[in-house]
Order: sequence, then structure tokens, then C-alpha cells
Amino acid sequence: MSLTTSIDWEKVAGLIPAIIQDNNSGQVLMLGYMNDEALAKTLATEQVTFWSRTKNRLWTKGETSGNVLHLKSIQLDCDQDTLLIQVNPMGPTCHLNTTSCFGNDDTTNTQPALVFLHQLEQVLADRKGADPDSSYTASLYNRGTKRISQKVGEEGVEVALAATSGDKSELVCESADLIYHLLVLLQDQGLSLSDVTDKLQDRHNKK
Ligand code: AMP
Ligand code: ZN
Ligand code: ZN
Ligand code: ZN
Repeated sequence: MSLTTSIDWEKVAGLIPAIIQDNNSGQVLMLGYMNDEALAKTLATEQVTFWSRTKNRLWTKGETSGNVLHLKSIQLDCDQDTLLIQVNPMGPTCHLNTTSCFGNDDTTNTQPALVFLHQLEQVLADRKGADPDSSYTASLYNRGTKRISQKVGEEGVEVALAATSGDKSELVCESADLIYHLLVLLQDQGLSLSDVTDKLQDRHNKK
């Protein structure tokens, strides 16, 4: 049975809610509604199209802003009345120019841990062209791969020392140092956290 025919259209009265999630970080970006036509167009074009209840027409997200949502995968939930759609967004998803429609009023970051790590990684990526005097991360890139690698080595040793000394709060601090420097090293090498989590996931799936 195809996705479209599996949906309980009667229950959703012709409009199925679609949760939009970033394929990379897992961040929830927005919620929209699809009728069968919007879903068919989404599948055919691999760009997310909703039925806009305000515009009262098909609405391809990004049609004016250019911030389209490239389709990666679609899942139907347990009772066939909600879609979870994973996407690669081409820019901020919210019309207020934020990545997500959710969580932007918070002054402190309350994103799930992995979403936060991806956001931190984005900040580190953005530091690449920055003035070395303006940021520690920029100064690390400026000093080069050898220095960044050395820092990762040092922080690894500090993690080991903290663990053997039994100081748990020190172990947490040193682990944070290690993860931060490792993220910088990956960026320096043109790699990302996803390359590492993909590898871990491969290994997990092979077991
Ligand atoms: P866009 O689809 O990005 O070209 O934006 C076109 C219009 O759609 C905007 O001016 C908003 O009215 C609306 N819009 C865009 N993004 C969202 C969103 N995430 N949630 C609700 N409405 C949106
Ligand atoms: Zn459901
Ligand atoms: Zn929004
Ligand atoms: Zn340290």
C-alpha cells in the first residue's frame, strides 16, 4: 500500500498534520497540513508543499523566500493520522527568519542535546573566517591543524586524569573541553559531527 492510501484521510478530514524535522540535527522546524494533492506534489517534486489554510491554496514552503525544504524521508505514525517529514532546509524555515518556528523566545538554549551540539557546530563553522583576535575558536583555526590536534590530545589526557582522580565535576568540564576542541578539529578538517554519528550508527546497525 502506498503512503497516500495508508493515510486515514477520513479521520483527518482531508488534512493531515505534517511535523517537519531537520534531517541532520533532528530539530523540529515547523508544523503544516497536507491534503492529498499537497502530499502528491511533495513526493513528485521532493520539495515540501502544504495546503495553506490561510492562503486556501497549495503552498510550497519557500516559494517566495527561496527557503525550500528538500524532502529526505516521510513516515506515517502508528494510527495513520500524522506525518513526520525529514528535510534539508535551504535556509531559515520560520517566516521570522529563524531556523525553527519553535523555541525562539527562550533567552537560554533549551534545545535537545544533539540539536544543541549541531547549533554549536554551526557557530564554530561561522568562526572560520573571523578575526583571530575576536574569538578563541577563530584563533585556533588561525594557529592551524597541528595546534588544534595538540589541544585535542591535551584535553584527552585531562579527561583521563580527571577520571582517575575521581573528581566528577572536573571530568565533566574536561569532557566539555574535549568535545569542543574535537568539534573544532573536525571543522578544520572539513568534517562534521554527522560524519562521526553516521559512523557510530553504522556500527550500531551492523551488530
Ligand atoms: P515562503 O513559503 O518561505 O516563501 O514564505 C511565504 C509566506 O508563507 C510568508 O510570508 C508567510 O506568510 C508564510 N510562511 C512562511 N514560512 C512559514 C512558516 N514556517 N509557518 C507559517 N507560515 C509561513
Ligand atoms: Zn496518530
Ligand atoms: Zn514560524
Ligand atoms: Zn581541559
